[in-house]
This record gives sequence, C-alpha cells and structure tokens, in this order.
Amino acid sequence: MPFSHHSHSGQFCSHAKGTLEEMIQAAIAKGFDTFALTEHMPRDDEDLYPEEQGQTSAQGLTQLFEDYYHEAQCLRAKYQSQIHILIGLEAEWIRPSSLERIKALLEQYRFDLFIGSVHHMHTVPVDFDQPMYSEARARSGGTDERLFEDYYDAQYDMLQALRPPIVGHFDLIRLLSDEPNRDPRAWGTVWAKMLRNLEYIASYGGLMEINTAGLRKDMAEPYPSAPICQEFLRLGGRFTLSDDSHQVGHVGTNYHKLPEFLGRVGIREVYRFVIAAESRDERFPGISVQSVSVNDDVATHASVSEAAPDNGAP
Ligand SMILES: [Zn+2]
Ligand SMILES: [Zn+2]
Repeated sequence: MPFSHHSHSGQFCSHAKGTLEEMIQAAIAKGFDTFALTEHMPRDDEDLYPEEQGQTSAQGLTQLFEDYYHEAQCLRAKYQSQIHILIGLEAEWIRPSSLERIKALLEQYRFDLFIGSVHHMHTVPVDFDQPMYSEARARSGGTDERLFEDYYDAQYDMLQALRPPIVGHFDLIRLLSDEPNRDPRAWGTVWAKMLRNLEYIASYGGLMEINTAGLRKDMAEPYPSAPICQEFLRLGGRFTLSDDSHQVGHVGTNYHKLPEFLGRVGIREVYRFVIAAESRDERFPGISVQSVSVNDDVATHASVSEAAPDNGAP
C-alpha cells in the first residue's frame, strides 16, 4: 500500500495549492495507508519568499503554523478509520536562529516526526528560482562545485544538531545546477562530504526519503540519485518514500516509477512510521518504524501515477 512522509497544502503554505483536508482526501482516494503532514516551519521576516512579502510576516507564519497543527489534529480524528495520518513539520536550516526555532517548535508541539531539510545556502533559497540559485552560487565562490561543498557542510551541521527522523531531499542542491543529472561521484571533494553525511545518517538511524518530487521536476531520478542510494544502502541505511506533494495532483506522483528505481538500486525494504508500544526515538513517544517489503507492497504503487504540472516551488 502506498504511503508518503512529506506533504504541504495551500491552506498553510503560500507556494502550495488546496486545503489540508483535500490533500488527505486525495491520499485516501489513491489508496494510501499512511500520509504525513509536514508543513514548512515558520521563518523570520527576512526569510519570506517573494510571494509572501507584503502578505504576511514572521508572526503571521507562526500563527498559521499554530492553525495548521490544530487543523491537522481535527482531520486526523475525522479520517482515522480511513487513513493513518502523521503530524510533523519540515525543518528549515537558514541561519543560526533556525536551531532555536526548531527546538522551540519541538518543545511546543507534540509531533510524530519531522523532516530535516536544507533549502537555503548563505540564507538564499537554492530551489526557488534560477536568479536566487545563481546568487547563492556567487556567494559560494561562483561554481556549482563550491556551492555543493558548502551545501553538504551545512547539511552536516543540520544533521548533527537535529538528528532528523527523516532526511529531506538529500541532493536537492542539484535541482537548479548546470547539470542536475550529473553523477555525484564526479567531484571528489563533494562526494567525500556526501559520504560523510550518509555515514552519519546511517549511524543514528535516520530514514532517507526517496522523494519523487525530483521526477516531477524533470530530473532523471528521484532525490537522492541512484549512486547516493546505493552508498547509503551499503552503509546499512534505511529508506522511506515521499511524494513531497504541494497540491492534490502531486499525491502519489511518479510512484509508478519507483519499482524500477528501487529494483535497480537494490532496495528490497522501505520503512514507514507507525504507532507502536516501543518508541525508536525518545523525542517521539509511541512512534516506531515498520518494514515494508518492496516486492510485496511497493509494486502496488504502480497504480499511482500521472504527474501534475509543477510550478517550480520549493
Ligand atoms: Zn523541502
Ligand atoms: Zn514547499
């Protein structure tokens, strides 16, 4: 049965579409058994996206997140006989204040999980549009290689500080680079930093999401690409599945391509979060992970397909 551990809605995110309830209804309609709600965490005033400027504020985003949390709880109760809803957030790693913000959120709310992501380099979004990506690259010294080095160093800082239960789109930095499908092993220094990060994730038991948004954005492989997945597998790392949906039409998008990708990489099991008597992480009591055989269950993802057009939002 399909599942996804990463989603957004237009109700609580300005670059997404549709209500939270519509997202859940779409997941039910597509036969999902588990669907995680992971809205972006609130950001500072200086980190508003262009479409948010003049429309909201850091305070507005904080209130919106509060509203999201309560709506998510109501919807989980409303649909509990039809789908297993997990409630979490996608953490941002923008500037030193990000850590305090994340810690405060984890204390304030009771989440089932969160996703550790890096969308910014030198405080500039790297997946929003080409001009911003170019600005971030310039701040790194002007080349993709240097920007990638900085990205994997920032990601390592994030991993060590947060130990996220799920690592979001591990190689997102390639999206707007000159060669998004470049073999990651081509740059020795970058590859060494990636391996260091993969070892760290495997060591604390973080789940690596295989995120089909990469395919939605016209890349040849999901995030992360096959060589990265193979290395993580070799290190004993475990994977989960995400569609990173930002609208109803994204739910389950490109899941029909997963059996071939997982088979090619050699992944025979993926994992989903479940309610359990034993917790795997003391920060999330009552939440554990469950193995799902790719042979038995992921093949049913083949029925979930049809890519919706993508607006390029993060
Ligand atoms: Zn993201
Ligand atoms: Zn987003």
